[in-house]
Amino acid sequence: MNIKELAQKIASGEIDAVEHTHQVLEEAKRINKEFNYINTFCEKRALAAAESVKKGKIKGSLSGVPVSIKDSIVVKDVESTAGSAILKGYIPLFNATCVQKAEDEGAIVIGKSSQDEFGFGSFSTNVGVGFKKPLNPIDPTRACGGSSGGAAGLAMKAKFPTLSYGESTGGSIVVPASFCGVYGMCPTYGRVSRYGLIDYGNSLDKVGPLSKYIEDIALGLEVMSGHDPNDSTSVKAPDSDFSSYLKKDVKGMKIGVISEAFGDGTTQDVQDAIWDGVKKLEDLGATYEKVKTPLAIDKGLAVYYILATSEASTNLAKYCGMRYGVQKETNESFNDYFKNIRSPNFGDEAKRRIILGTFARMAGVRDAYYLKAAKVRTLIIEEYKKLFKNYDVLVCPSAPYTAPTFTEIEKLTPLHTYMADLMTVGPNLAGIPHLNVPIGEKGGLPVGMMVLGDHFKEGELIRTGAAFR
Ligand code: GLN
Repeated sequence: MNIKELAQKIASGEIDAVEHTHQVLEEAKRINKEFNYINTFCEKRALAAAESVKKGKIKGSLSGVPVSIKDSIVVKDVESTAGSAILKGYIPLFNATCVQKAEDEGAIVIGKSSQDEFGFGSFSTNVGVGFKKPLNPIDPTRACGGSSGGAAGLAMKAKFPTLSYGESTGGSIVVPASFCGVYGMCPTYGRVSRYGLIDYGNSLDKVGPLSKYIEDIALGLEVMSGHDPNDSTSVKAPDSDFSSYLKKDVKGMKIGVISEAFGDGTTQDVQDAIWDGVKKLEDLGATYEKVKTPLAIDKGLAVYYILATSEASTNLAKYCGMRYGVQKETNESFNDYFKNIRSPNFGDEAKRRIILGTFARMAGVRDAYYLKAAKVRTLIIEEYKKLFKNYDVLVCPSAPYTAPTFTEIEKLTPLHTYMADLMTVGPNLAGIPHLNVPIGEKGGLPVGMMVLGDHFKEGELIRTGAAFR
């Protein structure tokens, strides 16, 4: 059952919203004992919302639908930490716009999903001090992918219909979706409001939906989207009836297959699975050609890690034990106080990024790194724009391999870890929408195909994804 069907059954009274929410919370907590997908449950709040739905006080397209919200997206009255110890105890006084929109449609927020601290990672292994790592729903010795690992894991593991709210800066929706075998949509930058998102990199962050069903992605995105006066980068975008694209077939579509994505770094299994997917689209009437995105692939990682860490290091400056999260009594000087709050409460990866980003923004090197990266970013955008003159969508693997084991991940250097994002940083830098489509499996593990579209062409991605239902 998808979320639309559930919402209809709840609205008609066939399913009791409160009873259903009770069952959902029980199952989610049972799953959580083993898999760690939720950092904080909000049981009382969920049951109160279910009560309102049952009484008919709230009616909408998500009536009674359980949703999980990535920990970096704030939910009123529920501890929201972005997976970091430094934000322990931070209880937001307001809802993020995307959360408010969901609740206005009758959605039931069940909890905050686990993630890499502040979004810094590709495996959800860089969790904050004292947090648990989410385990892959198909094989718990493997990672969920990151940084929206809890979101993807729960979307796959839950037997109840549900929508997960994730966030992507450089790949954090499609990579975990790929490792866990669900759909995950990273929309065009500006399509969904960032108001209430705990920023990682403001020029890159996007909120988007994850689910087992493409129908849920379409409906979820319809609910999330829209201009928000509280986010000056959000836009009133065209073409937002995403569900209408579910009915369109792929006949006549022109597809560009990104050929650099089939190099040595991508396992043969993944390459084969993606080609099978391309052939399937061809059988259904699409045509394809091989294309190249040399800048995005060669320069994307360097550009991304300079810009993303620069923005992150600025954003993290405010976490110093004064306004948000962890605080303590002090007789120390401010410098000592800040040090004693920040040193034990930021994880290693957060510290690495603070150092890297601060360096890249420093007077004397800013022109050589930050400004140069910003310029190359513009060239990457132009590279994609040129291709979209000739192709409806581009495709490649979402990740170069299937979900790795925790032991394999431990052996990776930070640089190797950053390489996991090889395919995904380009579209994120360009702010173009991209969708993970679970297209099959190899060795029992899901393989995901990434479909990229031009700005505001999420509909074309849904059309392509629907071919694999
Ligand atoms: N893995 C990338 C990073 O660590 C992307 C993470 C994200 O999209 N939040 O920055």
